[in-house]
Amino acid sequence: MGPRSLMSEPGQQSLNVTVIHCRRGRVHTKEPCSAPSCTTPHTRFCDFPLRGRKAGRTCDAKLCDSHATCAAPGKHHCPPHAILTLKENAAK
Ligand SMILES: [Zn+2]
Ligand SMILES: [Zn+2]
Repeated sequence: MGPRSLMSEPGQQSLNVTVIHCRRGRVHTKEPCSAPSCTTPHTRFCDFPLRGRKAGRTCDAKLCDSHATCAAPGKHHCPPHAILTLKENAAK
């Protein structure tokens, strides 16, 4: 038996690449809009600020052009949140 090589094998590299799927990240594949029965690829996300336990986050519902309601310049809301915003603005 020859002497064992004490060198670490150069061909064996650690390939423990951790792939983290960030749910809040922008997706690369065009997933369909979140609206029921809508299959149009989404173009934006709902910017509605969540409250309570999820405060600090946004709804992030996937929205196509026809389901995104412009709430403010650069801000868009999903249909349920657009209605909620309208009701709240009307109540003020
Ligand atoms: Zn849609
Ligand atoms: Zn929303």
